[in-house]
Amino acid sequence: MPRALVPVIVAVLVGQALLFVFPALMGAGLAATMAAVAATVVLAALALLVFGGGDAALAKEMLAVVTKIERNETPQPVQTTRTDDMGELAAAINRLTNRDKAVEQANTDALTGLANRRGLNQKLAYAFKRNQPLALFYIDLDKFKPINDTYGHEMGDAVLKRVAELFLANVRENDVVARIGGDEFVLLMFDLTDRKLLEDRAEKILTAISEPMWVNDVRVKIGGSIGITVAPTDGESPEALMAAADETMYAVKKAGRNNWKFYS
Ligand code: GH3
Ligand code: MG
Repeated sequence: MPRALVPVIVAVLVGQALLFVFPALMGAGLAATMAAVAATVVLAALALLVFGGGDAALAKEMLAVVTKIERNETPQPVQTTRTDDMGELAAAINRLTNRDKAVEQANTDALTGLANRRGLNQKLAYAFKRNQPLALFYIDLDKFKPINDTYGHEMGDAVLKRVAELFLANVRENDVVARIGGDEFVLLMFDLTDRKLLEDRAEKILTAISEPMWVNDVRVKIGGSIGITVAPTDGESPEALMAAADETMYAVKKAGRNNWKFYS
């Protein structure tokens, strides 16, 4: 039986007693019965609010917080001054929220909000553990430094943010876009190893970033060099897959930039 029902049952029993007390005080009749029933309902509601309703409201609040954690959103902490089991549960949920935030921060690039190298490594390790086929695009922007030199670092930052948006717009929801260094990005595309589809994707991504873009009212043009590896064919470990993609990206740079190339 739910604990919240106990005070309600007690209130109803008290109400039954009132059914005898009220007629004795007010004289027999409908008015006395109605008064007793009304008093019972008010007692039950009060009891539920004081002893049972508190739990229900707190449980609802905690459920909302846990649901947000599940969705990778950042919830407000559960507010309670209780020190019983419910209070301890709320405190544990709050600790979980804070730990989640700290982990997320450590795995996120502050400028773009993308995964950073650490975040990427975790996703890659997880994919390898599950033997999930994937394609890795290792991208270094072309001629990015002149943007900093010509328009300043803030402009460079704005371009990096725009590029991050363009990458995100050109992958699927569960794929990973990471910024692993200055102008270096990595895309992970899960369960996508078909060569033709990857060529199309590389072409689309390259077109998106190499079209002239307006950033802070300035028209800028960059490009990108993309090294592509496919797991498990091109690397038996995350490190090997990354190294092969890096090497391939470098080959694209050497060959004249703004292009893509498969490792094998
Ligand atoms: P390449 O075509 O050979 O790739 O040359 P590049 O001009 O793109 O320059 P490179 O990739 O060698 O170096 C990236 C530059 O990005 C170096 C640094 O000045 C700049 N950079 C690194 N981190 C940041 C950042 O957080 N913000 C900005 N605005 N610039 C950055
Ligand atoms: Mg570069």
